[in-house]
Amino acid sequence: MTPNLLVLGGTSEASELARELAARGLTATLSYAGRVARPRRQPLPCRVGGFGGADGLAAYLRDRRVTHVIDATHPFAAQISRNAVIASAEAGVPLLGLTRPPWRPQEGDDWLEVPDIPAAVAALAGPARRVMLAVGRQPLAAFAEQPQHHYLLRLVDEPERPPPLPDHSLVISRGPFSVPEDTDLLRRHRISLLVAKNAGGSGAVAKLTAARALALRVILVARPPLPARREVESVAAVCAWLDHEASAGTAAERGV
Ligand code: NAP
Repeated sequence: MTPNLLVLGGTSEASELARELAARGLTATLSYAGRVARPRRQPLPCRVGGFGGADGLAAYLRDRRVTHVIDATHPFAAQISRNAVIASAEAGVPLLGLTRPPWRPQEGDDWLEVPDIPAAVAALAGPARRVMLAVGRQPLAAFAEQPQHHYLLRLVDEPERPPPLPDHSLVISRGPFSVPEDTDLLRRHRISLLVAKNAGGSGAVAKLTAARALALRVILVARPPLPARREVESVAAVCAWLDHEASAGTAAERGV
């Protein structure tokens, strides 16, 4: 059977995979949630918007005769990853997760690792500080519980409504970011504490390297748990899996 791949995207890894699949001439569709106003141009056909839960995704896989799903979404996009596990099992379509190893503390780091966003909010109790809140747009409202701080926010798009944080400054910028840029940003805004999600990968690590150099405290939010699934950490490993799947499929078609 000719492969027809669905890549769940929204990350630089998904874009890298899209380039590789296009270069190999494979039939594939890249799926975006539609959170970002101007997604990057891609060398593959794209679709935008939710599927309507796990059942909707399973129906999509059947209707479009998808042969393989590669979940290259962000490690904090847990809902779509859970849906992908359920839907691929339901539709009988093999699933592979493409993810990044989490960041680990290094010599000189001053990290408080917390399990989730509510724990990060609780860890901010205390006197007013200048905090860089590098958690993306969605969890910002939770930090309204600690309104005493000045928050520096960095977002991909201008928010539709002002964030509900009484004292904040906003930087609109899309990664990847460099260490000199992030060091300069933290210095300029006189930041003493960084709150970030343990995304892993190289595109967003600069702020942690900068925080280490400036001896700043970091509150690092751990990844949400996911159901068990087959997982790899590189585009090359995805291609190896696809090659293996193709040869297994050919052998099965030959009745070997
Ligand atoms: P989420 O909480 O896991 O997903 C919420 C819902 O959004 C899903 O149930 C699904 O809707 C839809 N969705 C999510 N990703 C999708 C995709 N690639 N294609 C089609 N529908 C998708 O996800 P999230 O945290 O809001 O993240 C949304 C997107 O932003 C993801 O694609 C992710 O890779 C990217 N992103 C997220 C973060 C982050 O920190 N969370 C950071 C960078 C990039 P239905 O149930 O209707 O199918």
